[in-house]
Amino acid sequence: MRDEHVMLRQSVRDFVAKEIEPGALERDRREHFDLQVFQKMGKLGLLGLTAPLTHGGAGMDALATVIVHEELSASDPGLCLAYLAHALLCVNNIAVNASDAQKERFLPPLCSGKWVGAMGLSEPEVGTDALNMKTFAKRDAQGNYVINGRKMWITNGAIDDKKTPGDCIYLYAKTGEKNGRPEISTFLIEKGFKGFFVGQNIHGKTGMRASITAELIFEDCHVPAQNRVGEEGDSLTHMMRNLEIERLGLAAMSLGIARRSIDVMVRYANERKAFGQALCQFGQIQAYIADSYAEYKACRAYVYETARRMDLHAGNNRVDSDGVKLVCAPMGKRVADRAMQVLGGYGYVSEYVVERLWRDAKLLEIGGGTIEAHQKNIAGDLSKHPNWVAA
Ligand SMILES: Cc1cc2nc3c(=O)[nH]c(=O)nc-3n(C[C@H](O)[C@H](O)[C@H](O)COP(=O)(O)OP(=O)(O)OC[C@H]3O[C@@H](n4cnc5c(N)ncnc54)[C@H](O)[C@@H]3O)c2cc1C
Repeated sequence: MRDEHVMLRQSVRDFVAKEIEPGALERDRREHFDLQVFQKMGKLGLLGLTAPLTHGGAGMDALATVIVHEELSASDPGLCLAYLAHALLCVNNIAVNASDAQKERFLPPLCSGKWVGAMGLSEPEVGTDALNMKTFAKRDAQGNYVINGRKMWITNGAIDDKKTPGDCIYLYAKTGEKNGRPEISTFLIEKGFKGFFVGQNIHGKTGMRASITAELIFEDCHVPAQNRVGEEGDSLTHMMRNLEIERLGLAAMSLGIARRSIDVMVRYANERKAFGQALCQFGQIQAYIADSYAEYKACRAYVYETARRMDLHAGNNRVDSDGVKLVCAPMGKRVADRAMQVLGGYGYVSEYVVERLWRDAKLLEIGGGTIEAHQKNIAGDLSKHPNWVAA
């Protein structure tokens, strides 16, 4: 780890203690996305973490993204999810795939926090089977595009209860078919485009309630050709490459959840007494703590090793970006569950934090690819490349 990574971790930790932890419980209760706190992350340089310095970013790497996601998630995974949608799914996607002119126009307001970004891939009828998307972009007589369709579950798709849309949506849409396979293209959708609006804010989520999840609607939405990212039909590469950093970031979020849960259960087990002894004297409680710690550390080593090997511009790390999320998501959920168990009745109420982490942890087995999708991808990749096992 270089000096800049050590400094980054410390500054995010300080920021979390001062700005994020105090409001975490309230944001969860109110299902509230806190734009003000989010914008302060822009001042700290976090919103454009991997974007180039020339466009207002911090020019950092995959290891930095893991550090930031682990630290934010140890306090407020819901807010961290909104951060991930902005910084990895929107900003990093633009930084890696967009033209210089697009970077010049979109990155500065996204990196500063003036704009909130999102990414739209999932739809009401397709998630895992994303290439079967129905959202379609058709060229008009002037060479611009008309988009029709619906996107579902979009984090930062709306930024408040009034259904104000996010400022910039990195949108995937079908533009045709070649040899029986869908051709996917990407469009930068701006708030205010005619025919683009929020269908619904999705309320009543189990967890991740400090982020807003929305359905987005495109009804004859006119998009200028200059807002298409890359060539028409070549976005499968963008999507696959970005899914790698997304999954790594989500795995790091599980690390944050596990670390905080272990911290809470260790302290509680030392203080709380039963039958005249501290809970930490009981073998079953020791097993919860020790198993959690060792599983967290093993997952952490895998996440940090994968981050060190990840080149944000290359996109060849799918087996391990699926791998880290496959092991970390259930680990985070399991560890939060053990923490609740160690705290007994107190673990079941919000004040003691772990019940929120437990609810947030579940999303990481679903969002950004389900654990079944990771199993399918890893098994498929390894059967095609058996030499990767020993690489
Ligand atoms: C809070 C939240 C935030 C989200 N944010 C975003 C976002 O910002 N942008 C975005 O585009 N999406 C987002 N999503 C969507 C998320 O990525 C999808 O929910 C996820 O990919 C799963 O898709 P699905 O819900 O349609 O489930 P489905 O794909 O319908 O899957 C249902 C079940 O079937 C299983 N299944 C499906 N196919 C197979 C198969 N081939 N083999 C075995 N099992 C299979 C799945 O694993 C799962 O268990 C978000 C979701 C949530 C809940």
